Formats: sequence, structure tokens, C-alpha cells
Amino acid sequence: MNILVINAGSSSLKYQLLDPDSQKVLAKGLCERIGIDGKFTYKAPGKETVDAVDVAMPSHAEAIQAVLDALVDGKNGVIGSMKEIDAVGHRVVHGGEKFAKSVRITGEVMAAIEECNPLAPLHNPANIIGIKACQALMPDTPMVAVFDTAFHQTMSPVAYTYALPYEYYQNDKVRRYGFHGTSHKYVAGRAAAMLGRPIEELKLISCHLGNGSSITAIDGGKSVDTSMGFTPLAGVPMGTRSGDLDAGILEYLMNKHGMDIKEMLNVLNKKSGVQGISGVSSDFRDLDNAAEQGSERAALALQAFEYSVKKYIGAYAAAMGGVDAVIFTAGVGENSKDTRAKIVSGLEYMGIKIDAEKNNFRGEERDISADGASVRTLVIPTNEELMIAMDTAAIARG
Ligand code: ADP
Repeated sequence: MNILVINAGSSSLKYQLLDPDSQKVLAKGLCERIGIDGKFTYKAPGKETVDAVDVAMPSHAEAIQAVLDALVDGKNGVIGSMKEIDAVGHRVVHGGEKFAKSVRITGEVMAAIEECNPLAPLHNPANIIGIKACQALMPDTPMVAVFDTAFHQTMSPVAYTYALPYEYYQNDKVRRYGFHGTSHKYVAGRAAAMLGRPIEELKLISCHLGNGSSITAIDGGKSVDTSMGFTPLAGVPMGTRSGDLDAGILEYLMNKHGMDIKEMLNVLNKKSGVQGISGVSSDFRDLDNAAEQGSERAALALQAFEYSVKKYIGAYAAAMGGVDAVIFTAGVGENSKDTRAKIVSGLEYMGIKIDAEKNNFRGEERDISADGASVRTLVIPTNEELMIAMDTAAIARG
């Protein structure tokens, strides 16, 4: 079964054509600068790579057309015709409380996704444009929406309710939603497979540590708490996002520096996190290098990040009444052995202990637990596209 996975942003669109059964990626690539000029990238095993070439993309429609043209191209393509695309899976950021799982896209579903736009004003409208562009070009192909928030809809009101006047939840939908759900769900499934145990009996703490980071407590395969909140600004410090902070700081800084709320939020989203603390970079490799060369602020940024993740691990073990495995995933979690080691150091009393030798690698699925550790520590490369394709295939098959 060939599934086309589409992740549409406001000016970019990532795509992958893959077979979820064999887990083979047939082709993948990226459309950038949509609405500006248009750059197209296409890679397929054994075929010529197309790298950021100019293709006019006044809108997402031309971008999707470029993707389809490349996939069926006589020389470089990987399928004979568009009919060989069995279904399309669309990543949608926010499904609000309406979507607790992936769904086949209908008119009604589109309307419900649009109703979630105010909750993710930068992302959902772009996702919708991507869906509409695909529908126009492939009217007979089943389309499925896979939501970043859906996996977390199993959280209880105790975990998702903010201590604000309750009307803000009832009338304005202000609550914890959580994000990165596709990634957390994928690695939780892989963890169960690696441990050879049914997911229903496992308590997992999944640490998705990338540019954006979130930690999720997964009990019996269900998300019971997660560090991101109403928006992806909450939780641990990230590349450029502050993570959790005292809301009282906002008024103080806005008054002191004459900032309006837009400017303040720009600081919290784009100039904070490890970038803000270090003054060096939002990229963890740059921070590692800077810290090695003696930058105290880069070292502090890394330590603040590690400390915050460690605290979430403790908190979520408490929330679940135990933990069977801690999972590291995404750019930093998969690749940075030092960050992994520092996060879990001091958690030996909880039964979490890694083996330095086993931890000395990057980017593979491995168990790095020390002998005798009662809690397993796993490194699992995430694969959101595969998760989207698997959900899409399951729904398309009915
Ligand atoms: P995104 O949230 O954009 O998907 P990723 O999951 O790709 O982000 O993670 C990107 C982060 O992973 C960057 O900060 C990058 O520096 C970090 N990273 C990648 N490789 C390494 C490495 N070998 N050591 C430390 N950090 C790494």
C-alpha cells in the first residue's frame, strides 16, 4: 500500500511516499518558499536527487502538483500513475477536543478542523490549505487527518485543567492539549515491542527532545500527562521557547521595556530557551561546542534544559506511581549521549541507570540500561511519517 504523507506549513510542505507494511520509503522531499517563488527537493533511492530547484509555486496547489509530477515522472519517478497512491495522510497540528484519533477527512471533518483554527492560528490554516490542494488534484483518493494533539486526549481533567476561572475552559477551551502526539505514540509502540511486553501493562516516560521538546507520561499506552500545554510554549526550555515560567514575569518585563503582548510573545517563542540563556545558539550541537570552549552561559543553558527534563521524569513517575522505561527520541534525544547521560544521572535511586558504553552511539534503536537497572532506558528514533502512514492505511482499509 502506498501512502503519501503531507506535512503542510504556511510556506513549506514536506512529503513522503511510503509503504507502511514494508516500512519502505519510496520517495521524499520538500517544497519551500511557497507563495514566494518556489524551491523543490526530491529524493528517491536509486534515482537522481533533485535539490532545491526552482519550480514556480504561487500556492500550495502548484507545490502538490510538483510532488505528483515527480512521483510519476518517467525517469525519476517511483510509481506509474497517481492511481498507485492509495491514500494521503495529512499532519494536522490541532484537533482540539474534537479529535481523539486520526480520521478520514470529510466535509464535516474539514469544518471541525477549521473550528480548531483559533487554537493554532499559525499551523492549522496551513494544514487545511494543504488538504484542499490535495483534494483538488486527487478527488478520488481517500484523505486522512492525523493530529498532533489526538494522542493526548486521553488525559484526565485532573491533568489537563488549568487553575484558572473554570469558564475559561468551558467557554474558551483553555486547557492543556499537548503536542508531538504522533511521535510519543510511535515511540511508545516501539518501546513495547523492544521490551517484548504488551503496551497495556507498561508505564512509559517519553522524552521527545528536539528543537521543540515535550515529555509525556504514557500509562497502558495512553497519554496521561504531557509537558506542553495550551500551546507548544509550555514545559521544558526548548531551542528558542521559554517553556514553563511565572506568568507574573510578563507584566513586569512588558512595563519595564515598553513591550506589547505581541513583542513579549515573540521573546518567549523566538528568543528564549537555550538560545536565550546561552546567547549562542538554539542548536544543541553549537551549545555543546561553545560549552566545551568555555562558554559558561552555553553550559548553563544545557544544564537548565537537562535539569528541567529530569524534573519531569520525576514528576511523571510520581503521577503514574512508577515507571518501566524512559524513552529518548528526536534530534537531541536520539543523538546526544551526553544529554541523555546528564538527564538520568542522579536518578539511580529510582532504578534508572544507563551503561556508558551502551550509551555511546547515536541515531539507532537501542536499550542503554545498565545491568540490574529496574527501569529500562531506551533510545528510539522517532518516525512521525511512518506513524501517519500506518494510521492512514488502517483508516483507508476500514
Ligand atoms: P525539530 O523539532 O525541528 O524536528 P529535531 O528533532 O530535528 O528538531 O532536533 C533538532 C536538534 O537536535 C538540534 O538542536 C540539533 O542540534 C540536535 N542534534 C542533532 N544531532 C545532534 C548531536 N549529534 N548532538 C547533539 N544535538 C544534536
